[in-house]
Amino acid sequence: MLTLLIALSIASPLELATQTGPEDAVWSVQTHAFAGGDRHRATATWKGLDVVGADVIVVGDTLRSSNPWDRPTGRLAVPQKVAQDVAQRLLGGAALAWAPRVEPVIVAFDGARYAWQVDVASANPFAAWRVWVDGETGRALAALPTSFSADGSVYSGDPLSSQVQTVTLEGLSGDDALSGEFADVFSCDDAEIGESLFDSSVCNGLSRHAVPDSSGNFLFEPEPESYDDPFAEVHLYHHLDIVSRWAQDTYGFSRASPTTAFTNFEMANAFYGDFDGDGVADIAMGQFEGIDLTYDPDVIYHEFGHGIVGGVAALGFLDADETGLRWDGGALNEGTADVIALLLTQDPAIGAYAGTAFDRTAIRDLVQPRSCPEDLVGEVHADGLLWGHLFYRLTLDERLELADVEALLWGALSTWGPTTDWTEAGESLLDAAEDLRSADALSDDGVTAVEEAVSAANLIDCERVIDLVNDEEHDALLLFTGIPGALEVLPAEVQYRITMPADGSDVDLCFTEWSDRTDNIGYRIHVRRGQPVGHEIVDLSLFGLRTAVPTDFDADFDGEGTGLALTLGPEGDMVTTAGEVLYVSLASRPIDEPESLEFTFARVTLQINGEVIEPATRGGCSCSQSGTPVFLWPLMGLLPMFWRRRPKTPTGN
Ligand SMILES: [Zn+2]
Repeated sequence: MLTLLIALSIASPLELATQTGPEDAVWSVQTHAFAGGDRHRATATWKGLDVVGADVIVVGDTLRSSNPWDRPTGRLAVPQKVAQDVAQRLLGGAALAWAPRVEPVIVAFDGARYAWQVDVASANPFAAWRVWVDGETGRALAALPTSFSADGSVYSGDPLSSQVQTVTLEGLSGDDALSGEFADVFSCDDAEIGESLFDSSVCNGLSRHAVPDSSGNFLFEPEPESYDDPFAEVHLYHHLDIVSRWAQDTYGFSRASPTTAFTNFEMANAFYGDFDGDGVADIAMGQFEGIDLTYDPDVIYHEFGHGIVGGVAALGFLDADETGLRWDGGALNEGTADVIALLLTQDPAIGAYAGTAFDRTAIRDLVQPRSCPEDLVGEVHADGLLWGHLFYRLTLDERLELADVEALLWGALSTWGPTTDWTEAGESLLDAAEDLRSADALSDDGVTAVEEAVSAANLIDCERVIDLVNDEEHDALLLFTGIPGALEVLPAEVQYRITMPADGSDVDLCFTEWSDRTDNIGYRIHVRRGQPVGHEIVDLSLFGLRTAVPTDFDADFDGEGTGLALTLGPEGDMVTTAGEVLYVSLASRPIDEPESLEFTFARVTLQINGEVIEPATRGGCSCSQSGTPVFLWPLMGLLPMFWRRRPKTPTGN
């Protein structure tokens, strides 16, 4: 064993990678320079086919993570058309944004096998997916969203807090158009674009409205309400150039080609993803009600941040375990995109102007401390605030320079893989700090600052169980698929622990808010005495998808909407004793005809009888109700969903 370790420590990244696959695999190594030890990512092909899921991470000259595989079994028996149909089924029959692309690959998630890799996208709402279909059985093996949204952010703090000024547009490759080293900007001109956003028939009318004057300058007045607004094109070009240049200067990161970006069309959102079907992700910035997202640099930086994450890391999105569903991968992706915006602006109010459109001061506020599990909601943008706040805290810490924080983010995210969860993310940040210290690039105090921040966020030992105490609320998002069977009742991300009062009082479990977008979503509450509600991890035979099904509990209760859901106590809906500890999990359930993918927002609270409720109000729905539901992420219905099979535990040394 000692011999092996010594051998590993002196091997090159390529040598280390080749030991994790068959001899005839062909490897290529991508190196991300990092002061704490270069990060190397090796990817494999086998007989000309890309091998998905076999990435090997080497830090310095040490294997950090790998997924050993051997020659694939089986054969590519399933016709390409069948694989395409399986992928399209995941879109629930939605109209396609562009013709699916299908190619054969090797998938090394759980033993290597032949598979079809299908890129597919729905038109309205736009969502792009990459789906892998088993080449021998035709089962969907995994699906990964390849488009991301930025939640209706609008006009930057800059139109509010800054003046229009003349700047030098960097990197232009010609003198007649906003096309350059990092960005290639277009308007999407069709007036019907709101109906079917990225339908090729709608977006055929690409043009450039920004035409230089006789001096070669692009000098225009802001016209945010206009769909022919040349200022928006200039603004998009300029800020895309800034963030792209920053990523290159700071991290040595650049995309293979200039980022194609679109503006001047109606949509209350922005996306990173492939919208024109050419196989390369674009940035698309919508406008609505006179507010143009293109005017908000935060949104541009955030979307490009997804490009950095996608280009460097290989995150998952949604997974499941015995506690319930978990969103770590998607949340880390969104949180990192917010951190990119933060690092560029040092402003923790992400999308400040956007917030005004939704009566908020910002779409996302990184100032408020967040920790696990109390602030886990079960929505990727909300959960991403854990990561966002952690980095905001680091930027404020006098023991760290901004460059240190930039390096720490890079050192962490460049080691992430499909199984990275909150624990691994926290450890990756601690590792990055240690690696920097070992290279004399970070002080002992700096390492301590990172340790304190990771500890404050409670990332390492995040047990997803919240102690719900009297009159404290917790927000939860429930995912609803409308698909019968194991996907019909889907658990939330966290469970609650309730300790019954010692004096024998009742406890009411209430929903103070319930935002139901379809009228079809109700809840099912599972209660278990003494230990968390158990879930079985299910790979569905039809889709090969991974979800969590509640299996171990003592009682369950169905309901819908706000108000009293359940009374626990000596004479309650569930009879309990003083001091008893109960675990509660929430799940979605269909009420009427199921519809396809939806999220619903629930705010749950406990109220202990006699303390916050007048005894006279007992008997009916005794839980106090708050006002209008606050829908923090107004566009969350556009969120893509993702299940995947968990790869074998990485066996890095
Ligand atoms: Zn995003």
